[in-house]
Amino acid sequence: MLVLKNLVKTYDNGHQAIKGISVDIKQGEFIVLVGPSGCGKSSILRSIAGLESITSGKIELNNRRIDTETPASRDIAMVFQNYALYPHMTVYENLAYGLKNRGVDRNTIESKIEKVAETLKITDYLDRKPAQLSGGQRQRVAMGRAIVREPQLFLFDEPLSNLDASLRAHMRLEIKKLQRELAVTSVYVTHDQVEAMTLADRIIVLNQGEIEQVGTPAEVYHQP
Ligand code: ADP
Ligand code: ADP
Repeated sequence: MLVLKNLVKTYDNGHQAIKGISVDIKQGEFIVLVGPSGCGKSSILRSIAGLESITSGKIELNNRRIDTETPASRDIAMVFQNYALYPHMTVYENLAYGLKNRGVDRNTIESKIEKVAETLKITDYLDRKPAQLSGGQRQRVAMGRAIVREPQLFLFDEPLSNLDASLRAHMRLEIKKLQRELAVTSVYVTHDQVEAMTLADRIIVLNQGEIEQVGTPAEVYHQP
């Protein structure tokens, strides 16, 4: 499970983007963060991933304190909206890159990639470069690169916001399916209410760096 305890993030210019947030996220839970632009969603994701240092508080992942660890040792995978694939590498090489760096042997890499490629239906594109793929295919590869590492936690920063409406709807369902299959704890940031309702076990509504509401999609969106 993921625990945020009194998390505070104050940027160098003095702006307090996260104002003492506490939340317990269960193993396998899919959490969606929503709220107006500037409310601190990205700051929270980046703090969990270790791309930002936190000002005070604590972050624990599976009973291990991670806010003092380097990003690489946190065992967290992050999926961005801009894919962040290596353009000069094939899909296969993109998927293999992280595993290779960690010294995983060639046969293991090959069998892991085979399995993930099948799950994401990208087996036919393994030899292509990212530029030869559609937006949806690229997004699937980006997700594959995260999945193949078998992380303890997934962070998604508006991963579908660059796709057109029909592709977004399709990918929403794919993520939902993966969520059921893999049951990896996930924190997902979006502006899209349909995405939040489709994917979330619980939704956290943020406002100006504070938690305004936590609840199931039904609790958050169907208030009497
Ligand atoms: P969201 O993702 O919800 O749009 P952010 O986490 O990006 O919100 O930003 C939260 C607040 O922190 C905003 O007011 C933003 O302007 C500010 N902020 C974000 N990054 C920085 C930074 N590097 N330095 C100073 N202020 C920042
Ligand atoms: P290197 O870093 O040694 O040049 P590559 O990253 O090109 O190696 O490939 C590593 C291994 O992955 C190769 O031995 C190759 O067998 C395998 N491989 C590369 N592309 C594919 C693919 N599209 N499908 C299956 N296996 C592949």
